[in-house]
Amino acid sequence: MPLSEFKLIERYFTQRASTSQNPDKDIVLGIGDDAALLKIPDGMELAVSVDTLVAGVHFPLDTRPHDIGHKALAVSLSDMAAMGAEPRWVTLALTLPQADESWLQGFSEDFFTLAERYNVHLIGGDTTRGPLSITVQIQGLVPAGQGFRRAAACPGDHIYVTGELGDAALALRALQGTAKLSAEQATHLLTRLNRPEPRIAAGLALRSIAHAAIDVSDGLAADLGHILSASGVGATLDLTQLPLSASVAAAVAEAGDWHLPLSGGDDYELCFTVPEKNQAKLFAVLRQFNCRCTHIGIIEKALGLRCKLADGESFVPGVSGYQHFV
Ligand code: ADP
Ligand code: MG
Repeated sequence: MPLSEFKLIERYFTQRASTSQNPDKDIVLGIGDDAALLKIPDGMELAVSVDTLVAGVHFPLDTRPHDIGHKALAVSLSDMAAMGAEPRWVTLALTLPQADESWLQGFSEDFFTLAERYNVHLIGGDTTRGPLSITVQIQGLVPAGQGFRRAAACPGDHIYVTGELGDAALALRALQGTAKLSAEQATHLLTRLNRPEPRIAAGLALRSIAHAAIDVSDGLAADLGHILSASGVGATLDLTQLPLSASVAAAVAEAGDWHLPLSGGDDYELCFTVPEKNQAKLFAVLRQFNCRCTHIGIIEKALGLRCKLADGESFVPGVSGYQHFV
């Protein structure tokens, strides 16, 4: 017999949420009522963000449920990292074509594994029937006034990025049959596409060091572009410094095509700007990042994004970033 909506919620979400290893004293009321009730500690601001993953748009239809569970939460955690917020609570709106228990088992297992790793609690949600889509709303805490803003970059700021760029986009090309990868490359790149690692530690370590920050979800050129336009500044990137995996470096070298690291998307790395006066502080906390961190350029007064190649030539990135309605 198919599961009822309430049994499904109870079996795959409420039970696991209520047996969390670290109970949260700021949850006054969790799953089960019309709304959850939360305490916001004094001196903190609430960072709130919501993201939807639509099957066939944000992930291929045959993506494993485990990976979807991980990614749905990881992309929301990544937004908290980009605000310098400590992630605390999530709600989950699930639209499912049917109550497929093996799918729910896989999805919830990796969703909760990641949630527990970051001590994030599921406090509610909504469960409906329809084409597969997953919406995660996340709430985090940041000391008042310390949240990063896209509008805070200043001329002279140094531009950094965590991790490596273009892996997820190359994995997608391989899935679509337009790039060939060895088995070993495919394993690494598919993990980067399906199981991004939110840069929470970096986001927290950067509080009171970085000016502006953003998570790179639509490609570096588009996302850095949001910082530039919000701040009313421009930038020059040194493409020779972009952090690339061996696979992406080889793909770029082969075709001279910078599309993968500049506008490939789905990287979920952090791009941020640091004023000269905070550079020493940054170097002192880099170890806490648990990932690579690379200087890639400088914020400038002159508007626009300029990209420098090895021979000193400039490169103008083409139309960048995935857009849903064009
Ligand atoms: P309502 O009718 O008020 O929308 P629902 O019947 O949708 O309530 O949900 C009952 C309770 O279960 C609510 O507390 C809601 O937050 C929670 N809930 C529903 N779906 C999920 C889910 N997928 N994950 C976690 N909690 C859920
Ligand atoms: Mg409901």
